[in-house]
Amino acid sequence: MTELANKDEPVTRRVLPRDEAVAYFKSLGEHYKAEIIGAIAPGEDVSLYREGKFEDLCRGPHVPSTGKLKHFKLMKLAGAYWRGDHRNEMLQRIYGTAWATKDELQQHLTMLEEAEKRDHRKLGRELDLFHIDEHSPGTVFWHPKGWTVWQGVEQYMRKVYQDNGYQEVKGPQILDKGLWEKTGHWDKYRDNMFTTESEKRDYALKPMNCPGHIIIFNQGIKSYRDLPLRYGEFGQCHRNEPTGGLHGIMRVRAFTQDDGHIFCTEAHILPECVAYTALLQKVYADFGFKNIIYKVATRPESRIGSDESWDKAEHALMESLRLSGCEFEISPGDGAFYGPKIEYTLKDAIGRQWQCGTMQVDFSMPQRLGAEYVGEDGARHNPVMLHRAIVGSLERFIGILVEEHAGALPTWLAPVQVALLNITDAQADYCREIAAKLKKSLPNQELRVITDLRNEKITRKIREHSMQKLPYILVAGDKEKEAGAVAVRARGNLDLGVMSLDAFVQKIAGDIAHKL
Ligand code: ZN
Repeated sequence: MTELANKDEPVTRRVLPRDEAVAYFKSLGEHYKAEIIGAIAPGEDVSLYREGKFEDLCRGPHVPSTGKLKHFKLMKLAGAYWRGDHRNEMLQRIYGTAWATKDELQQHLTMLEEAEKRDHRKLGRELDLFHIDEHSPGTVFWHPKGWTVWQGVEQYMRKVYQDNGYQEVKGPQILDKGLWEKTGHWDKYRDNMFTTESEKRDYALKPMNCPGHIIIFNQGIKSYRDLPLRYGEFGQCHRNEPTGGLHGIMRVRAFTQDDGHIFCTEAHILPECVAYTALLQKVYADFGFKNIIYKVATRPESRIGSDESWDKAEHALMESLRLSGCEFEISPGDGAFYGPKIEYTLKDAIGRQWQCGTMQVDFSMPQRLGAEYVGEDGARHNPVMLHRAIVGSLERFIGILVEEHAGALPTWLAPVQVALLNITDAQADYCREIAAKLKKSLPNQELRVITDLRNEKITRKIREHSMQKLPYILVAGDKEKEAGAVAVRARGNLDLGVMSLDAFVQKIAGDIAHKL
């Protein structure tokens, strides 16, 4: 690499018709490359990049010359069977990363190191939150503590539904094949769906919640006065991803979305999007994320719906972000065939980006599944459907949260908020009594308190609970017992001194209220 970078050889691109490219690589004895190009549709062109004597197929783009690759690091070597089949020959893959400056390279390496420390799979094990098991690849076994975090997120989002005009619904997990034919899923995504059959009928586990919400919408006659009608669901979806692509709880086969659908008219798109963006900003801030990147994906070449509808929808999405004071990028042509969308991406503590939120306009599915409302004119119309999710997959979002906070979840979400430790047996009863009081000390929720009354050195007990990243560790010795107080240690080994129980309750209540 150093040699190549020092040579500063120009990298040049040329384009060959597919068949010529196949013949060219065959003549060089490069049969694997010939095979890859052979799989490209006939009539397509193939781009090749050359530096010095080496020429390879690549979609590009490339740096203009090898001199741009001075700041690099080779990361790892891996053997891979050709086409992933162990009967084939094993090839060697070398992974590396290169950056424009030494600083940027260093920043990237530091980020990777930090990411490894925060890896949710590692923290999930150490903090006893969840595990993934061979008995069901790509689906999560939630342990009591992890499920407590889950419940925290779900209940918070449920309140968001309730406070913002959504009605929570629940659709079935398994739906008839005929429905997925109508939505187009059976044709396009059949390989990614889990199917089953009963009494000679084929079914699929739902890969999305949307059709279920339309079926609910279609019950009874809807009038324009009912719109906008907002349904929300914590809908579990299954998608049959190849096991090679799965990643902890971030990429799974079964996930639950905070999925919502707004049935409305074109005129509602703008106000709904403005309200939604404000809501999403509040939710992300409550979970500790302040940086959001906004993108609007506009009409692709092949699409349904009139240009007039697209004009209106795209304008409404962009205008809503302008009204919300958000700068945004445009991804031309990246919208779905059925409508444009806004993508909301979080930036985490170490600079990584996670697309979580989405707001998608859909002119198609209501028609396909026969959703109608009676308009002011007395005639029947298809509503516009807005698909929206704020956190997206709860599994993935909890993975992001764990990594963002390096396992030290904010007090309001922490599975255990307080541990009470005695120094000697003489304070055991006092600790039990205080723990019982603490649990019931807030008016509208139970504090999650544990006691550790083992006959162990107090330093060891403190160390163990610190490793679990608890927000608060309370210690009681004779002095504290006599004073009816506790010695408070906050996360990060902060000694907050001795406090009365009331003073501590006030402190933790403040944390929870402010989502700290
Ligand atoms: Zn949807």
